[in-house]
Amino acid sequence: MLDLKKELELIKEPIYKAVKEVLDSGSYILGSKGKELENCIAKYIKTSYAIGVANGSDALLLALKALKIGEGDEVITTPFTFFATAESIALSGAKPVFVDIDQNTYNIDPKKIEEAVTSKTKAVIIVHLFGYPAEMDSIMDIAKKHNLKVIEDACQAIGTEYKGKRVGSIGHVGCFSFFPSKNLGAFGDAGMIVTNERDLYEKIIELRNHGSSKHKYIHKVIGHNSRLDDIQAAILIEKLKYLDEFLKRRREIAKRYTEKLNRIVKTPSIFQAREHTFHQYCIETNKRDELSLFLNNKNIATAIYYPIPLHLQEAFKYLKYKEGDFPITENISKRILALPIYPVLTLSEQKRIISSIKEFFEK
Ligand SMILES: *Cc1c(COP(=O)(O)O)cnc(C)c1O
Repeated sequence: MLDLKKELELIKEPIYKAVKEVLDSGSYILGSKGKELENCIAKYIKTSYAIGVANGSDALLLALKALKIGEGDEVITTPFTFFATAESIALSGAKPVFVDIDQNTYNIDPKKIEEAVTSKTKAVIIVHLFGYPAEMDSIMDIAKKHNLKVIEDACQAIGTEYKGKRVGSIGHVGCFSFFPSKNLGAFGDAGMIVTNERDLYEKIIELRNHGSSKHKYIHKVIGHNSRLDDIQAAILIEKLKYLDEFLKRRREIAKRYTEKLNRIVKTPSIFQAREHTFHQYCIETNKRDELSLFLNNKNIATAIYYPIPLHLQEAFKYLKYKEGDFPITENISKRILALPIYPVLTLSEQKRIISSIKEFFEK
């Protein structure tokens, strides 16, 4: 689905240099590179604060904890996302409450959020799935009306803009993952939390480091070991310089797919500005499994995000959802297929993918 080694070839020199610098520095965790990356990300997303954490999943959990969400609370989210989104809610002690998605954007349907709000609802985790922004204006209005906190799971959407703002900066807290396959990927695990609120920033600084902030061995609260190490930070500082160019290439690849395929399968719309950063490019067809097999036999990788909606996962059996509860999510999970999209995918590789898909539907 993607070729990380080929991508590394492009930027090998600055990355090797940055890693060597950290190795030679003798400072590996919570050192100067971590701080520098936090400054770079805060500047890029345009928030007051950014806090490096161990991964995107921890970013979500620490955000919930900093907002004092836990036992007895409910948090609304989408059933059509990576498991970690809802897992973080369960880990905080709160109860995940799912709301169906919009069939064109694949994001949570704001019209359905209000029906799910109860006296226990404290927050909403919205996901900008595949790099496409959720409808933040309506979501922020609903949140304000019901006094809910909004956490943006922007793990798939760094650099995406919604009405001129970068996602992650619109809600109360934004969470990012730098897992290697993400649009800005480290060479290991890493994550980041952004916010404009000073008190949340201070709480997260404590939570990520065993409840300790200023003085080592003085612990104010029970926390976590969830820090972003300096080697990953140094790598990410270098890769961030290429992010906009890489996102532009993703959008070019997506545009070409849509132009060539929109008459035979359902494709995402082509967007003008940075409204979509195409972490994934997904098509929909009733012949999904046959098409996927056909392409795989021609050595073309495909993937399904996500084959089992979260409300039907065994781990969430205790929530007592059943098949049919979220028909749009369930239907799309049977039809959706992700095609290869990454900055170093060549035109000839993409042409072969497109002609193979055409061949499948013509046969
Ligand atoms: C990748 C991802 C996460 C988790 O990030 P990790 O860094 O792998 O822990 C959470 N939510 C979404 C939507 C993701 O895509």
